Amino acid sequence: MGVNIEENKSAVLAHRAGEIAAKIPGGNTLARSVEMMVAWGRANSLWPLLYGTSCCAIEMMSTGASRHDWARFGVEVARASARQADLIILAGTVVEKMGENLLTLYEQMPAPKYVIAMGSCAISGGPFYYDSYSVVKGADRLIPVDVFIPGCPPRPEALFYGIMQLQEKIKKEGREIPWEIGELVKSPCIDTFTKTKQDWAALEKEKDQEMAQAREQFKKENPDYKPAKPMRLKKEKLPSPARKKPAPKGISNWTLLQTLQEKFPEITVHDHPNASRKEVAELGLDYELDLVVPKAQYREVMQYLKDSKELGLEMLIQLTCVDWKEYFDIVVHLLSVERGHKLFLRCRVDKEDGPAIETISDLYPAADWHEREVYDMFGVRFANHPDMRRIYLRNNFPGHPLCKDFEDPSRVIVRPY
Ligand code: SF4
Repeated sequence: MGVNIEENKSAVLAHRAGEIAAKIPGGNTLARSVEMMVAWGRANSLWPLLYGTSCCAIEMMSTGASRHDWARFGVEVARASARQADLIILAGTVVEKMGENLLTLYEQMPAPKYVIAMGSCAISGGPFYYDSYSVVKGADRLIPVDVFIPGCPPRPEALFYGIMQLQEKIKKEGREIPWEIGELVKSPCIDTFTKTKQDWAALEKEKDQEMAQAREQFKKENPDYKPAKPMRLKKEKLPSPARKKPAPKGISNWTLLQTLQEKFPEITVHDHPNASRKEVAELGLDYELDLVVPKAQYREVMQYLKDSKELGLEMLIQLTCVDWKEYFDIVVHLLSVERGHKLFLRCRVDKEDGPAIETISDLYPAADWHEREVYDMFGVRFANHPDMRRIYLRNNFPGHPLCKDFEDPSRVIVRPY
């Protein structure tokens, strides 16, 4: 991804002015003084762009709020427009889909401009380093970063330190060290983390050995030394509060099953195909009935559940998918808003069948986006869906990332353990 390197007009102007001033006696000193004043002013009046994507953003907001108050450091007015900002603090995870927008924002910022990567996510992908198809493994693959602040999340004090480091860098800028756009990381997406982890473990081992030696030495030199015993407080025993058993909500599992099986005898309970009344009762009151529906009857069953006044399962909580390697399970979770009972239904879709199944978005409108999500992530198509296209990923994304056989070495670093 290329960054549009714009001409640094202020640096060029400063350079020319410096050249002219140098010809006058004492002019060099004067030019340097002006440069220092400009750099000082620039360093102490940073205008950050409002940009926070996940948890680190909370720490950044806290840094700006009254307790920490980053205005004390000259980081005064957070701007909503990139055209008025000269600092972007990447506080949080940078995902691939956001990448292009981030580039646009960076290009819209007037030069000289600076970037701080705050937290492990922005630095390297953080907790999403392994097995993630969507998180950029380091924001410096997209835009040049001036200061990295480690942590998950870094505290406001750490952000202050990062800002101060950036200010030191800016203060040195002038004709001799002009502001220029930094380098991007061009290396392929490889697992450097595991090697760092191993090196770190070796260092820790060395440290432990040194500590053990130091302890031995101390024991030899102080044979009578007795460490103070920590005083343990007795744990207070509190009476456990009386808990009422929640009353069963809505229709019982057995009645639900019986009613459905009367109309659709092929329906079975997942993992208990021939469950008797007693067995269903033994599953307990907290157990939500998990039924297996044959694909041929999927739509008919859903239509019945939607229309049935007796069962009243009028709300779709969730429609999702599970990849079992050999086949997919489409899982639907329904709720009776009025009476409170819930029901899971799963329907097997073989991979050789497209994979495809009929839509239920006309019965349960909430299924519309859920079905698009399943298509995006697993590649299962829903026949007669009004708008069967990707919902999260770009149209040219290679494959469906939640499938067990998804591979993309340019994006995904597979966990080696
Ligand atoms: S580094 Fe940690 S705290 Fe910051 S965005 Fe990532 S997961 Fe959240």
